[in-house]
Amino acid sequence: FSGKTTMQAIGESIKNKLVNDYKSVPILVKESSTVYEAICTMFLEDVGTLFVVNDHSHLVGVVSRKDLLRSAIGRQELEVIPVSVIMTRMPNLILTFPDESLHAAATKLIQFQIDALPVVKPLASDSAAQKYEIVGRITKTSITKAYVELGSEEL
Ligand code: ADP
Repeated sequence: FSGKTTMQAIGESIKNKLVNDYKSVPILVKESSTVYEAICTMFLEDVGTLFVVNDHSHLVGVVSRKDLLRSAIGRQELEVIPVSVIMTRMPNLILTFPDESLHAAATKLIQFQIDALPVVKPLASDSAAQKYEIVGRITKTSITKAYVELGSEEL
């Protein structure tokens, strides 16, 4: 137990956890998909957040449950309107990265009051243009999993 206090051990264990080890599969829709298609995808894939990509598979937006509900109660034509009209778009997206600590990602979820973060890798040639490929998703469930793990860990 090497002289560490339990609190120090817990603190270290939390900060050593990386986004890359807790990310789940991101569910994507194309920016040309309709709101109706996005609603179907959200149900079929059983997720609360969809990430929107362009034809080059670059991240362009995020669509949440409430974004879709809002457009559904707005009596708009769900089978015509593309998700790109209702999504939260770049550069306003809150991102996380594979080598970021899970604690930093959790802090973003709390700070910005959102349910999910896209895990992204900048495309090398385009770092100035802020182009990203999506490699995963961190959600409140990812954080809960890490919390449960922590409670089961031998410190
Ligand atoms: P819900 O809207 O279903 O409560 P969220 O709390 O995650 O889900 O989303 C709240 C708002 O923030 C929505 O308009 C959504 O588009 C936006 N949002 C969700 N995730 C992100 C993110 N990673 N970056 C920026 N905006 C986001």
